Formats: sequence, C-alpha cells, structure tokens
Amino acid sequence: MTFDKTIKPMVKKTVFIREKEKGLLRVGELTPDRAAEIEDEDGFVQQLIQRMDGTRTIDQIWADLQSIDSPLTADELSEFISELDSFGLLDNLASAAYNSFSSAELERYKANLNYFTSSSSLAYSPWEMQRRLNRAKITIIGVGTLGSGVLFNLAGLGVENIRIVDFDRVELSNLNRQLLYKEEDIGRRKIDAAMEFIRSFHSRMKLECIPVEIRSTADAENAIAGSDFVVLAADQPSFLLERWVNQACVKLGIPFIGGGVNGVEGQLYTVVPGRTGCLDCNYLNHSRQDEEYLRFLQQYISSGFRMPSTAIAPNYMILTGMACGEAVRLITRTSDMQSEGKVVSIHFETFQTAIKMDFTSPSPDCPTCGHGIGKEPIFRFFRDWEESTNKCKGGV
Ligand SMILES: [Zn+2]
Repeated sequence: MTFDKTIKPMVKKTVFIREKEKGLLRVGELTPDRAAEIEDEDGFVQQLIQRMDGTRTIDQIWADLQSIDSPLTADELSEFISELDSFGLLDNLASAAYNSFSSAELERYKANLNYFTSSSSLAYSPWEMQRRLNRAKITIIGVGTLGSGVLFNLAGLGVENIRIVDFDRVELSNLNRQLLYKEEDIGRRKIDAAMEFIRSFHSRMKLECIPVEIRSTADAENAIAGSDFVVLAADQPSFLLERWVNQACVKLGIPFIGGGVNGVEGQLYTVVPGRTGCLDCNYLNHSRQDEEYLRFLQQYISSGFRMPSTAIAPNYMILTGMACGEAVRLITRTSDMQSEGKVVSIHFETFQTAIKMDFTSPSPDCPTCGHGIGKEPIFRFFRDWEESTNKCKGGV
C-alpha cells in the first residue's frame, strides 16, 4: 500500500484502546462494528499508535520509530497503517478540508465531526463530510410541523444555504409541536419567525424565504431550482402538491424526501431521480396491487374529509430526526439511506419500522419518470381532481 507522502494519520479521538490482556490490544470497541484485536507482545504497537496523533507524516513516523529500534520496514509500516485504516480507526489531519476549518468552526461542529468519524477514513475525512453539509443547498417546502423541525435540525448540522417556501402564519394550535415558534409569533408569517430564529442561531447561514403557495408543477420548479435536495414538508392540496413537487424534482434531477404523521404512525419516503422510481411510480404500483386504492382516493377526496392533525411533539421529533438523518446520508454519502425508493413507516409506540411500499425500480409506464402517457385510471383521477381544484380557485 502506497500512501500520499503528505498524509498525517491520527487515531480517531472516538477510538478507545485498552490492553485486554498482556500482549493483546483491543481497539475501538465503543464504536459499533469497529472493534479489532491487535497482538502487541513487546509494546511496539502502543508506541506506534502514540505517534499517530496527526502531527507526523508516515515517513516521519517511520523515522521516529527507528529511535526505538523498530522491527518494521517502511513498507510493513504502510501495510500496518492500511490495516488500521480498513478498521476505520484513522483520520488524516493533513486533509485539505481540515485545514479549511477555522478554530470556531472546529469548536461549533466538534460533535458533528466526532459523529462522522464513525464512517471516515484516511481517504474521506469527517471535515470533508461537514463541508458537504455546509455547502449543500436545501429547500424546505412548508415550515409547519415537519418543516420547522427540519429547519432547526439542518441549522444544527451546519447547512448554510437553506430556502424555505411557505405562505402560512403561526397559530396558537401550532405550538404543541412547532417548537421553532413562540407565543409572540402568533399571527406572524412563519417565514419571518423562521428568519428571526436563524439570524440569532447561526450568523453564517443564508436563509432565502419564498412566501408563495405552490399551485402547479411550474411553481414547484421555480421554488426548488438550484437546490441539491428538497424536503417536502407540506401536504395541501392533498396529493396534488406531492405530484407537482415530484414532477419538478424528476425534471430537474433533484432528490427529495417527504413524509407525515397519521396517529401513532409516521411515514417517510425518498425519491432520487435517475436512481429510484418516483411518486407516480408508487401511485401506479399501489393502484395495480390494490384494487381498493383508487376507490379509497375517490371517496376520500369527494367526501371533503380532512384528517385533523394528530401530531404531538415527541412523535414529530422522531420523524424529523429520521428525515434529517437521511439527508445527512444522502449529502455525505457515508452510508445507505433507508427510505431511498421506499415508503418507510415507524410505529411511535413500538418503535417498529416497516417498508410499506417499494418503488426502488422505476416503472416504465410512469408518466413522470418513464414513458407512460398517464392513461391509467389513477392518473385520470388526479387530472380530474386537479382540474376541479383549479376551477374552485378561479371562483367557478
Ligand atoms: Zn416514476
């Protein structure tokens, strides 16, 4: 194994090392899936690990070890370092990303960076992961229950470029769960209260506010243009908003996550254009697998029934955390997302998760991401529903 001469390996601060028994080191056992055992009869490995503190290149470590009569050749040392790296025990303190951090940033993101060591390596540092988050451009559609929680999660993660799209005002009944807002915000536009929060929380964050109601795919395209990732955290008008955002995201190639709470269950899904199917694939699959589904939608819409919010703060915090965790995985590419191309549910009382629908594979008949023309009854239903909604809006 040949390393870049400039690498300065550092045993991660999250790695706990102990002498399990004489001549045997146990390394990294406090981190899940990270434990390794290394024979160290003469204490040489401990001497080596002490020198991997991020201040020395590999050549300097080797030169330094000669003073204690190292039994390793330079090549053997590289092999050993490579093995430690394969266990995920090392970071490179000479990485360009590390050097781009100010001391205030290192302090602010200290715990984030420690968290990222769970998947970092000499080749991909925690500082690079944090920088990807810092630079990501994320649009949140709706800063109500899910969206307001997502906003302060993203602020804590250090996402510096966020756009929010919302036309709603804060109501007293929001305060059981939309913890971004206070009593004095009642009656204010949510985007104004959100802006005030962000200004006081993170001075480097740029928050762009778009006070519009999305009423078409074109509106959705305008709202999300230039984003790396979209969080769909609004649901009105029912089904239509999801489809408009879905169509816009597929057209512009922007991944998006959406979800909501229904009683004791929460759901999340993620569409990654070009990699998964889309929401219309999901509607198509669902209507083909369940004959009752279209009839349910027709009766639900024609009844005028609107499910009142059943969201309590603890449940939404769980769902919000899951959604933002998925965003972190998508942006940093550290591990697989759980909701990519799937509708994943969580039962808030049992903590059980389940895959409700799978649209991992795009459907060739999908009118949005495939070659379909939308002739299936489910899409005719959506077209009729959209038409009647537009007529109502026009006062007909
Ligand atoms: Zn599709």
